[in-house]
Amino acid sequence: MALKANLMQFLDDTGNELVLTEQAKTVFKFLTKIVSSVSEKLDYSQINKLSIEPLKVESLKAKPSTIEVNLNCNSRAAGLSCEGRIEAACIAIDLIEWHCDSCEAAGTIAGWQGTQWDKQKPTLH
Ligand SMILES: [Zn+2]
Repeated sequence: MALKANLMQFLDDTGNELVLTEQAKTVFKFLTKIVSSVSEKLDYSQINKLSIEPLKVESLKAKPSTIEVNLNCNSRAAGLSCEGRIEAACIAIDLIEWHCDSCEAAGTIAGWQGTQWDKQKPTLH
């Protein structure tokens, strides 16, 4: 089952981390690592294309480029034994999809834009 997460769920009104349980902390760390890795390498031209033609995403020749995140699958929760690596891609504005290259683990992350883990460089207009 895909894990649908929204970073806002982990933050208070001022963008600071809420007091989390150990389990939630582990998941949160995993998610923010994906967010910073993906946003750092985000290709703006590609994202702009997605926003203009949201219905054509599936048919685009240039699919969102997958980014290898320096994370192991088992770092998303204690007690997991999968040694797979995590890959992620920004599939729409403010939506990141991630999956494990070895098992069925996958999910999406929303609500990350503008958080302290969003590493996108400001656009120059
Ligand atoms: Zn896995």
